[in-house]
Amino acid sequence: MRIKKRLFFSMLLLSLAFIILLFLSGWYLLANRTNMLYRILAVTGAVTLTFIILLTGIGLGGLALILWRERNLPFLRRLGLMAVNLLFPLAMGLGSRLGFSREAIKASFIEINNQLVKLQEFVLQPREILLLAPHCLQWTGCPHKITVDVYNCRRCGRCPIDALHALASKYGVRLAVATGGTLARHFVKHYRPKAVVAIACERDLTSGIQDTRPLPVLGILNLRPYGPCLNTQVNLKQVEEAIKYFLGEQKEALPAASVSPLERPGW
Ligand code: SF4
Repeated sequence: MRIKKRLFFSMLLLSLAFIILLFLSGWYLLANRTNMLYRILAVTGAVTLTFIILLTGIGLGGLALILWRERNLPFLRRLGLMAVNLLFPLAMGLGSRLGFSREAIKASFIEINNQLVKLQEFVLQPREILLLAPHCLQWTGCPHKITVDVYNCRRCGRCPIDALHALASKYGVRLAVATGGTLARHFVKHYRPKAVVAIACERDLTSGIQDTRPLPVLGILNLRPYGPCLNTQVNLKQVEEAIKYFLGEQKEALPAASVSPLERPGW
């Protein structure tokens, strides 16, 4: 695992350890009471929590095994994702307290998500793939309303939306541009894709991946040379690789030299 993935995973383990510590403290406080009601509460709570902690622990162990061995083990994967959902808020909270930026932890989560998605086999039809881009990729001076209809773009080449159109035409996938989570969810509901290639910042990608589960989403972080939400950019090679993954054309990352230059097809 690379460092980025290790960060989120470490926060998950820390969260589980924190819960176990809380559980043991609670048990110590309640179990020593002579009052019968407290004892019943302690035993009931202990049985329930032990079960949840065990399942979460197995889920995290399974996730580590999947990431380490790079093999898709569906049952352990489901259990692992359940553990991630359960521990996510605590992992974020503990990570922030320890001085890690929320962006770094979320980027690490996105890396783990992408690896889990890439361990599955996909051979999808182009129209079953949705390429979802954020509005901040559009040049701020552009007068065309591309969130209503992405084909309002005049393909002037001043922002990455033009190149995304070229990619969408080249592979035949659907393209949509969303201003935020609500519109992104609308597009997913409307097009009902079997997979999504999503470009966004750490915050939007994280919530998007969680909101659309079990839909497979390959997340690509946007680049922000002018700061957040302003004339952002994207690595087009990563977008093309993600589309090819879902099409079943590519099982390993493409070497840089094998990426074909983007052609700009006519309308
Ligand atoms: S490429 Fe499209 S969206 Fe970007 S500035 Fe030109 S017309 Fe506007």
